[in-house]
Amino acid sequence: MGRIIGIDLGTTNSCVAIVETSGGGKIEARVLPNSEGSRTTPSVVAVSKNGERLVGQSARRQAVTNPKNTVAASKRLIGRKFADPQVREAATRVAYTIVAAPNGDAWVQVGDRALSPAEISAQVLMKMRETAEAVLGEEVTEAIVTVPAYFDDAQRQATKDAGKIAGLDVKRIINEPTAAALAYGLDREGSERVVVYDLGGGTFDVTVLEITSGVFHVKATSGDTNLGGEDFDDRLVRQLAAEYEGAQGSGGIDLRKDPMALQRLREAAERAKHELSSCLETEVNLPFIGLGKSGEPLHLVRSVTRAEFEQLTADLVERTLGPCRDALAQAHLAPADVQNVVLVGGMTRMPAVQRAVKSFFGREPHRGVNPDEVVAIGAALQGAALGGGDEFTALLLDVTPLSLGVETGGGVFTALIPRNTTVPCEKTEIFTTSVDNQPFVPIHILQGERPMAVDNRSLGRFELTGLPPAPRGVPMIQVTFKIDENGVVAVDARDLGTGRVQAIRVKPASGLTSEEVEVRVAEAENNRKADEERRAYAELRSQAESLLHTTEQALEGYAELVSASDLERARAAATKLRVTLEATTAAAPLRAAYQELEAVNFALADALYGGIGT
Ligand code: AMP
Repeated sequence: MGRIIGIDLGTTNSCVAIVETSGGGKIEARVLPNSEGSRTTPSVVAVSKNGERLVGQSARRQAVTNPKNTVAASKRLIGRKFADPQVREAATRVAYTIVAAPNGDAWVQVGDRALSPAEISAQVLMKMRETAEAVLGEEVTEAIVTVPAYFDDAQRQATKDAGKIAGLDVKRIINEPTAAALAYGLDREGSERVVVYDLGGGTFDVTVLEITSGVFHVKATSGDTNLGGEDFDDRLVRQLAAEYEGAQGSGGIDLRKDPMALQRLREAAERAKHELSSCLETEVNLPFIGLGKSGEPLHLVRSVTRAEFEQLTADLVERTLGPCRDALAQAHLAPADVQNVVLVGGMTRMPAVQRAVKSFFGREPHRGVNPDEVVAIGAALQGAALGGGDEFTALLLDVTPLSLGVETGGGVFTALIPRNTTVPCEKTEIFTTSVDNQPFVPIHILQGERPMAVDNRSLGRFELTGLPPAPRGVPMIQVTFKIDENGVVAVDARDLGTGRVQAIRVKPASGLTSEEVEVRVAEAENNRKADEERRAYAELRSQAESLLHTTEQALEGYAELVSASDLERARAAATKLRVTLEATTAAAPLRAAYQELEAVNFALADALYGGIGT
């Protein structure tokens, strides 16, 4: 078996790590730097103006000039419906267009194509895979990928699909806080309770774990899938944009309506936020951000203090404490029962966040692990454990973050597997008919905590068909609901009367069908090839231009030294290459014209130097 890499597929940034055994037999997780030398990669995907697909820093860098075709934070959309209130809310924040897929899923319009968020995430995963392959010098096909603890079945499925499209066999999907705890708790012995407080770019998770002799048990999870660093940036963006709008001379322009200005403002706000984690004051300086009433350029220069930023975001920090209370209550613990608090996510570098956590739990949070890398490190450790490394045998017990159940009479949601049940788990239920001679039983599977089915997340529906005619209530169909170690749901059924096992295919309420995934896998491979061809073509063009340049110079310089017919042939070949260069975008004729000129040049060189020394 090859190496299983660990990938933290983050909302804002992603990170990839591997586990190595050092000379002394010590296990060490190592974060792998990408081709730009960074240990984390922005989870940003773009299609540039000339049709090139960009991922990571290069995508992020051109976001200002190409905001409509630059997709950041697509994790907010993955596995969600277009009508989902959280998607509607996200749509007001992003410069790209979110569209409804035929099945109602939220997709993204990039250039002339609508892409599923799984395809966007696949690009990021592919970049992480390439990062690992470049460092390791070997092919990588297996990975552990992390997701927020609150992700439901559809979101986990979509993440698995993303892995598949990226050419990765996702051996396990694990919760981000669980991964962080794995990284953190590896060397620990005895028993302790740990809270993982994870405030990242787009999501907030809090998890209560019990670690006993290397066994990790997730006791409770809570969080807010729509609270993260971007909300903090947004507060400063709003403040600065409102001031600008009200400022004299700005002509009452709302910078947030101009995608390019908004992007610049957002980046500046994030930079200021980072600086304010270590400094007490910083300056936002955006020259030429807009035009005044009479067309004069306007600049935005404004100093921001840590105190002001903390004031602007105090309620966001406070909002993280609700889920902390919720998770502790679920685990029947008081803050004082927790022995360690682990901080995860770049946002936990903000001093106000650290203060709030410290005062809530009454203890100094643990910061021994780099908050940007700890999740990928944990994922890599889990990969090593699954890969059968004898040295590392940590067992991972996870829980289902949402209750799984079915719709029963009157649209009521009946939970079969309650939230926080350790996975993998299964539950068997007997279903029957409600009218005489009913030939089928419809079953609607849902996930969520609300009492009415309609308020929960529909995973899919299926019908148990082919029932023999019988009075109502007589047929007995045993249905087994399973949640596997990835949190992914599977269902099977057996007609107890006939003993027949019903082949059930849950028609997914969302996500890509397996056929669609296959198409995307092929497309991704084709895109990879097309990208390579495009790169090779660009290189060929540049070589052709350079050859033309040197040939033209040489022809001028050596006109007298070679025969008129040789000269003529060289000129003709050069003209042909120039015309081809201008007229075509196809590689084959360009390569032919290039090779022709090259051959003529070699012949000329022969004529020039051939006589020397004879
Ligand atoms: P993550 O999802 O863990 O990569 O977290 C990314 C979030 O952390 C983004 O919103 C970043 O702006 C934020 N972040 C990173 N570094 C810092 C810092 N030094 N101070 C405050 N926030 C930070």
